[in-house]
Amino acid sequence: MTLVERQAGVGRAASFANGGQLSYRYVAPLAAPGVPRQAIAWALRPGAPISLRPRLDPHQWRWMAGFLRACRKTTHDRGARILLGIALDSQRELTTWRKEGLDEFAWRQPGKLIAYRNGAGFRKALAAIDPDHQRPLDAAECAALEPALTPVAGQLAGGIFAPGDEVADCHAFCTALLDRMASSPRFRTLHGTATLAPGASRRAVLRLDGRPVDAAQIVLAAGLDSRSIAAPLGLRLPLYGLKGYSLTLPANAAAPRISVTDYDRRIVYARLDDRLRLAAMVDIGARDDALDSKRIAQLRAHAKATLPEAGPFETAEPWAGMRPATPDGVPIVCPTSWNNVILNVGHGALGFTLAPGTAAIVRSLLQRF
Ligand SMILES: Cc1cc2nc3c(=O)[nH]c(=O)nc-3n(C[C@H](O)[C@H](O)[C@H](O)COP(=O)(O)OP(=O)(O)OC[C@H]3O[C@@H](n4cnc5c(N)ncnc54)[C@H](O)[C@@H]3O)c2cc1C
Repeated sequence: MTLVERQAGVGRAASFANGGQLSYRYVAPLAAPGVPRQAIAWALRPGAPISLRPRLDPHQWRWMAGFLRACRKTTHDRGARILLGIALDSQRELTTWRKEGLDEFAWRQPGKLIAYRNGAGFRKALAAIDPDHQRPLDAAECAALEPALTPVAGQLAGGIFAPGDEVADCHAFCTALLDRMASSPRFRTLHGTATLAPGASRRAVLRLDGRPVDAAQIVLAAGLDSRSIAAPLGLRLPLYGLKGYSLTLPANAAAPRISVTDYDRRIVYARLDDRLRLAAMVDIGARDDALDSKRIAQLRAHAKATLPEAGPFETAEPWAGMRPATPDGVPIVCPTSWNNVILNVGHGALGFTLAPGTAAIVRSLLQRF
């Protein structure tokens, strides 16, 4: 098996400093009924969870049209069911990998609390709760479970706690996985920029920095860049980069111990060993993953207002990444019309959560060849 990687190390693109939540029980796609209306309201408010910059870019408009279609209840519910199935497979798969010795990626199972500020949103979420795996809490119970939320308890309508959810450091996870794979004599890494081109007998030709590389089977899993890599094969992948941001700082005694999602601000908090990671925001129309000082300042201000004792957020390490998103939030994991190409792309906002589950699907596809 050969890993082809453009950067000097693994997990340095969208996986680098993501939210760190392995959010198995809350996997609803971003596209949902009510989101288009809410997005218009958010577009007018600085610091809102979603910002939209329209571009003269047919791909952006096609993707957004697909996103609007995916906001229909039937499409949303179908996506949520598929994602929940992959997420639960993912949790089982990761448990097996950990039992086999995969370690050193700040994994913990503290459970996840989704805290709601808006009463109507909380009541709607309660209607979809799975009582075997999720527990409703009032505001006081939220603060008792996670004392870091005490300063904002008065602003909360309530919360939903999933005790089985986990957290981990995604970049460390990628590195730990690579170390394990590298211990096999049948594994190698090649560094360089991969491209695909049509070859004979409906087989794609893989090139690394222009030089052909022998490959019986190719799994395309290059995040957002998969779109341009697949294009010469005539495969039009509906992937769009949804930019998000994170801050990482040393975790002090006031930092949350469980994983928290501030639902109405769409900010996630996770303690990764001795660091606190918070991540947020969806910018539609960003050209690249460059830091945007205005968005970072907004994130610092939100964090300070929510967890005043857990800072200082001014000196927290900022990061930005592009979520490789499909319109309906469901990753594309399937064979293609090319005999030697399998896709594993489009994990969007849930790539860390879903990765072991989609890897298991790829494994079963490869066994069929
Ligand atoms: C702010 C933010 C917060 C997030 N929080 C969470 C969270 O809490 N939980 C969760 O589950 N998910 C979260 N995500 C989503 C998750 O990070 C992504 O879904 C995931 O990282 C995507 O992984 P990937 O491997 O598909 O892409 P990437 O991580 O981008 O990896 C693609 C790889 O392909 C390589 N590559 C690209 N082009 C080429 C080429 N031509 N040749 C060779 N190599 C190439 C890149 O160098 C890179 O190593 C978050 C994302 C963001 C941005």
